[in-house]
Amino acid sequence: MIVKQEKPILVEEKSAEQVNVLDRTQKIMKQALEKMNYGQEVLELLKEPLRLLTVRIPIKMDDGTVKVFTGYRAQHNDSVGPTKGGIRFHPDVTMDEVKALSIWMSIKCGITGLPYGGGKGGIQCDPREMSFAELERLSRGYVRAISQVVGPTKDIPAPDVFTNSQIMSWMMDEYSHIREFDSPGFITGKPLVLGGSVGRESSTAKGVTIVLKEATKIAGISLAGSKINIQGFGNAGSFLAKFLYDEGAVITGISDAYGAIYEPQGLDIDYLLESRDSFGTVTTLFSNRISNQELLEKPCDILIPAAIANQITEQNAPNIQAKIVVEAANGPTTVNATDILTNKGVIIVPDVLASAGGVIVSYFEWVQNNQGYYWSEEEVEEKLKNILVSSFSKVHQTSVQLNVNMRLAAYMVGLKRIVEASKFRGWI
Ligand code: NAD
Repeated sequence: MIVKQEKPILVEEKSAEQVNVLDRTQKIMKQALEKMNYGQEVLELLKEPLRLLTVRIPIKMDDGTVKVFTGYRAQHNDSVGPTKGGIRFHPDVTMDEVKALSIWMSIKCGITGLPYGGGKGGIQCDPREMSFAELERLSRGYVRAISQVVGPTKDIPAPDVFTNSQIMSWMMDEYSHIREFDSPGFITGKPLVLGGSVGRESSTAKGVTIVLKEATKIAGISLAGSKINIQGFGNAGSFLAKFLYDEGAVITGISDAYGAIYEPQGLDIDYLLESRDSFGTVTTLFSNRISNQELLEKPCDILIPAAIANQITEQNAPNIQAKIVVEAANGPTTVNATDILTNKGVIIVPDVLASAGGVIVSYFEWVQNNQGYYWSEEEVEEKLKNILVSSFSKVHQTSVQLNVNMRLAAYMVGLKRIVEASKFRGWI
């Protein structure tokens, strides 16, 4: 039943995204490296980024005051090539979080065979409370502060939480002014008119759809007719709901920061997409709204966390009914929950594989900028599919051959290339 829209409340996303993500990453990395019989020096090299930069950026606010913002850039490992990864604007972003995210980027690039290591950046700020002009000054100030360590062949940023193509445009413009030449390859996630790639906006959801199709083959179920619950209806979740709905899947549940809606017969995704407000919120239209946590335990064949970290925990994992969990979000499942689900026979397609579509199409954007020649949507989609199908196969085969879960297998596949490159360079 439809009810009047409530006034939006801003839900804090901080704590869940941050809980021990670096510890958790290092723990799985240690297991992966031990399984591959690498020595202690390899863990010593890879457990932390090679380069970390903290900057303080003074910005004149619209009311005439000056505010000093703290920003970070982490470059995990550049043995394979330049580092690559997004810039996050969030009040609670920390150096530890940025470190972990840069390691995940190294693993994603390793699994998918992109010629990059991982990088990540962030600024402690709340863009929801800043004017357009203040955001522009902050974006340009951050680029001036980090310009020495980034560049098209050094470290290539991209959008992440609360940053978008407009922010990428300001950053690219600032970098081009500093270097005194046009530098579209400095940053990805740009609008098409400034050298963006077709398909970049929906690339993460496209990628999730591709790996999910591979996972259904292993599970012996058909995507068409499968019941799917998706947590999150933002960039990743909403495109994903639409793609899967169009493939004939029955989307039984979706959620946003305000709650979830669940309908065993299936939701009308086109209607929900049309009805969401400018923040992407839609569940507030429904009086029979349930909580995000309740949705995770509702019946379905496939569960897709596509919102924030640490959602599937040892508390709710025993009650999850899905046969496949595909992690579109970064870090949605804790280590203990991964063990519980694996023991129940649930196929988990881990974040470092499932959400790699974004960085793959970012790579395509960078290649197109470097060659000055732009591809069609069909070319982008075909190349994305080829990379992800073979990446899935590598991870799945490793998981079967070594009898380890898909997450550990993904870390093994992703880290191997960095280790080999670091060895050839004589670093270890
Ligand atoms: P987004 O901001 O566009 O959407 C986030 C969604 O999560 C929204 O529907 C929001 O309402 C919901 N949400 C926020 N707080 C919540 C809470 N406390 N409980 C439940 N839901 C909540 O973000 P996005 O770009 O769609 O990213 C979603 C996830 O996917 C993140 O973990 C992100 O790191 C990951 N990811 C995104 C991309 C990409 O290209 N968009 C790439 C890789 C990974």
